Amino acid sequence: MLQSKIIYSPHYLIKLENHVYQPEKYSLVKEKLIQEGWASESDFVEPELPDEKTLLLVHTSEYLQDLKALRLTPRTWRSELPLTRDTINSALYSVSGTILAFKEALSSLVGVHLGGGHHHAFPDHAEGFCYLNDVAICARYALKTGLTRKVAIVDCDLHQGNGTAFIFKDDPAVFTFSIHQEDIYPPKEKSSLDIGLKAGAGDLIYLQELERALKQVFDFKPELVIYVAGVDPYKYDKLGNLKLTKEGLLKRDTLVLGECARRNVPCVVTMAGGYAFKVEDTVELHFQTAITAIRFMRAKNG
Ligand SMILES: [Zn+2]
Repeated sequence: MLQSKIIYSPHYLIKLENHVYQPEKYSLVKEKLIQEGWASESDFVEPELPDEKTLLLVHTSEYLQDLKALRLTPRTWRSELPLTRDTINSALYSVSGTILAFKEALSSLVGVHLGGGHHHAFPDHAEGFCYLNDVAICARYALKTGLTRKVAIVDCDLHQGNGTAFIFKDDPAVFTFSIHQEDIYPPKEKSSLDIGLKAGAGDLIYLQELERALKQVFDFKPELVIYVAGVDPYKYDKLGNLKLTKEGLLKRDTLVLGECARRNVPCVVTMAGGYAFKVEDTVELHFQTAITAIRFMRAKNG
């Protein structure tokens, strides 16, 4: 039995036709964790639907009304996902999922959400496969509990966490860090710290830059880290060209989680992007992140 529950919802498994997004990855990662003996069925817990008040921590009421009514408006159409009850439910459960992982992280220092990381969502509109910014909502939620006074978001997805950067641009309690490929989507917002890498960067440059940046992140003295662990920097990803290897991504996960563990800073892990040519690769890479988190969870809790 694991020291903390892993968060997963069957609602993440939405059906999409000919889409680059691979929602099946979430359930496949869960199955792989069970098959390979890292977790058992009882180690997983499903989030419930969030209440309106929680969503309003970040999103505007006008936009939330559109989502509820499945209304195609300038606020909703940029999601690049179908606007259906299932896709909205998936986004809603993802919000509670990341919050639940935060609660797990409070007690065992590592909270793993096999979902979430929807960092392109803005307060008043959807973007880039993201309807609701679970990362930002979780940060605000954590601050509101009073148990956390400062939050750092460590966004290692291939794409800049533009929604998150925008949301917290004037919030001194949240440090937003994003390391991403510079010359692709999205148009950049200003994070507290941005590292925009050139196409073809590779493991060595990526890890050097990340290590240097993490020093700045921890100089902020966060009491919670939310790790956006997208695996789309992978060299065989359809959407980018950062050329990280599987080993490079493992080093990345180990570095981020290790720096949190060393300082006893609770870390919430969210999956975010991953669009490898082979879905098995996407699954393998998210699985790698999950087991790295489990290793730290065990080391910290005996
Ligand atoms: Zn991405």
